[in-house]
Amino acid sequence: MNVTVPQDVVRRLRGLGAVKTDEPLSRHTTFKTGGPADVLVVPCGVESLGEIVRICAESGLPRTVIGGGSNLLVGDRGIRGITVCVSADAFNTSGPAIEDDVVYVPASVRKEDFVSICAEKGLSGMEFLAGIPGCIGGGIIMNAGTVDGNFVDILYRIEYVDRAGELRLQDITPSMARYRHLDVEEGAIVTAGWFRLRHAEDGEAVRNRIRELLEERAKKHPLEYPSAGSVFKNPQGHSSWKLVNDAGLKSHRIGGAMVSDLHTNFIVNAGDARSADIRELIEFIRETVYIKFGVMLEPEVRLVGEF
Ligand SMILES: Cc1cc2nc3c(=O)[nH]c(=O)nc-3n(C[C@H](O)[C@H](O)[C@H](O)COP(=O)(O)OP(=O)(O)OC[C@H]3O[C@@H](n4cnc5c(N)ncnc54)[C@H](O)[C@@H]3O)c2cc1C
Repeated sequence: MNVTVPQDVVRRLRGLGAVKTDEPLSRHTTFKTGGPADVLVVPCGVESLGEIVRICAESGLPRTVIGGGSNLLVGDRGIRGITVCVSADAFNTSGPAIEDDVVYVPASVRKEDFVSICAEKGLSGMEFLAGIPGCIGGGIIMNAGTVDGNFVDILYRIEYVDRAGELRLQDITPSMARYRHLDVEEGAIVTAGWFRLRHAEDGEAVRNRIRELLEERAKKHPLEYPSAGSVFKNPQGHSSWKLVNDAGLKSHRIGGAMVSDLHTNFIVNAGDARSADIRELIEFIRETVYIKFGVMLEPEVRLVGEF
């Protein structure tokens, strides 16, 4: 039973979305690890999200935002206070709205759906997102991408709820983006993004490229195991997978957490991993790589909650 969130707060939240108490976050992360959220709320609309944020502020309760949970390592003791989940079930949305080459996408839409809907409509420019899990909001905040492109290359405006619960717009410029990071107002919860794509000259070629990227990923990534994708950012002038590999850590295991033998920048949950195993393995890799090569790896995966 949760002890930190008063019952009257839970009652108020129930009118604003789907609420669960003591919800195991292992159900909401692609690592399939993580302890309980005291209260998890999936907002039913953008106005409701504003109200949820105001309730958190008034009650002084901590709040944490999660999207598709594909870049998160949540502690085994879970997350205190209110966890706002902007995943595919949030906002009761009908999906992306396309007008000419501009696409408005609610933050709860899965990247996978964004890519396939735009491809069906004959648009191009979003192919690089094929195979990246999670939702649009998480992708925006992470400036997710690959060597072929990043969110900021196609994103030009976002809508978000600020710390006071007010809805705001923000134009996005390239200078706001860094590697796996977008500089937006502290505490902003992204509710939607506007993307500028191109009309494809050859729609079939776009769909083929997407298929090709998905096939390449299936060969290179250990998709049969739960993971959060690449664990470490690539340091300037290095590839993290190579540093981990050359440090002799392929298949290295701590508890149920293992360095993938297929892609050494992936840690996989090879069985009953706890988040503590994964965190310990992350620290062990950082230490080993630093001792061998003098390079301190920085995690791309975000650690939240109590370990
Ligand atoms: C198999 C696999 C492959 C991957 N490949 C790639 C890849 O090629 N490139 C890449 O960049 N990433 C990759 N990832 C990592 C991950 O998919 C991306 O970072 C993704 O964009 C995270 O989106 P999410 O919705 O899951 O966010 P989450 O993991 O839920 O959250 C990530 C961060 O965003 C914040 N956040 C989430 N939603 C919102 C919101 N609406 N408003 C404000 N903050 C929010 C969270 O607080 C957290 O700090 C991969 C992951 C896996 C499992």
